[in-house]
Amino acid sequence: MALIVQKYGGTSVGSIDRIRNVANRIKSERDKGNKVVAVISAMGGVTDKLIALAKELSDDPTEREMDVLLSSGEQQSIALLSIALNEMGIDAVSATGRQAGIVTSGSHTRGRIDKIEPKLVNHFLSEDRTVIVAGFQGMTEDGMIHTLGRGGSDLSAIAVASSVKADLCQILTDVDGVYTADPRVVKKARKLPEISYDELLELASVGTKVMQSRSVEFAKKYGVKFEVKSSLNNNPGTIVTEEHEAMESVVIRGVSIERSQARVTITGIPDEPGMSGSILGALAKAEVNIDMIVSNIASDQLARHSFTMHTSDLGRAQSALKPVLADLGGDAGIETEAGIGKLSCVGIGMRSHSGVAAKMFEALGNAGINIGMISTSEIKISVTVEEDQIEEAARVVHTAFDLDA
Ligand code: ASP
Ligand code: MG
Repeated sequence: MALIVQKYGGTSVGSIDRIRNVANRIKSERDKGNKVVAVISAMGGVTDKLIALAKELSDDPTEREMDVLLSSGEQQSIALLSIALNEMGIDAVSATGRQAGIVTSGSHTRGRIDKIEPKLVNHFLSEDRTVIVAGFQGMTEDGMIHTLGRGGSDLSAIAVASSVKADLCQILTDVDGVYTADPRVVKKARKLPEISYDELLELASVGTKVMQSRSVEFAKKYGVKFEVKSSLNNNPGTIVTEEHEAMESVVIRGVSIERSQARVTITGIPDEPGMSGSILGALAKAEVNIDMIVSNIASDQLARHSFTMHTSDLGRAQSALKPVLADLGGDAGIETEAGIGKLSCVGIGMRSHSGVAAKMFEALGNAGINIGMISTSEIKISVTVEEDQIEEAARVVHTAFDLDA
């Protein structure tokens, strides 16, 4: 007999039929003799609908009221799932964030979980009942409702699993695990049996959408091992866990792509202290999110800086840079280019293997794909290529690192 925490997302509880499907899945765990705490999201689309309703009344509703409003989505779904389970003869009870003892601090609409006091949940479990906990919400010490940021039910589930010392934590979702690449792009992508927290976090930062990153960070911090798997079938998913030695034998765990990137290059910058600071400072002030940065000195002794960003930020970046360019003087100029894609390889094996970048660049070169910018971190290498070559780039690199099924 095991204690299992399962998280079901909005799509998985998106209709009455799907709620019944989830109830059946929970029932089958109960039939095996396991205890279950399910943490669930609002029915798919409900959170967005509630936001839209508020926006009809005000452009700027207070965050306090948004928390009260949005948390109601999960309050509906926990009750509906409990009703479905009761109808099947399973003794299930719902618990809101407060009832589950999820204590938060920080600001409205982006609360932080400080601690969980699972007294009531443990009491229900001791009576052998199934507990359905509202994700995405908690309460401050002084009784204010908080939500945890979009996608926050993942965080609730990891935190609840940690607090009740679950034997197993499962994130049941509409993808059936973490893949070596997006299977829609790379047909030969494989589902990974396991991945480390850091690798999943790096992949998420470069476009792989599996779950909320904060929840993976939380899992890493508290050592919560979990499985990402489908809520629609019984295939094994992907275990997300601390890294261990055997993991390093795989050089690259996965590749990820991002589209719609743009590059801005500023030329003719005097080679003096403070220049990079004033350029990036202007972009930061305009809330332009910069990604890769490359700078070098041209033969005329003037510096050039290139950086990438999402194409939707390009206009804002250009207006923010206008006054900076004027300050830089007569030699300064700006070039922009949209239609760029970014390809990243991630793997903790990079730390102990050499020649990883060379292998990636050779594979791209052999395929006639030109590399624009390059950036690296301890477990990641990213390059930019023409956006219309990004899928081909992902496929050749996937093959080069023996990731193909
Ligand atoms: N219902 C919330 C959202 O849509 C929380 C979640 O689904 O995890 O963001
Ligand atoms: Mg959701």
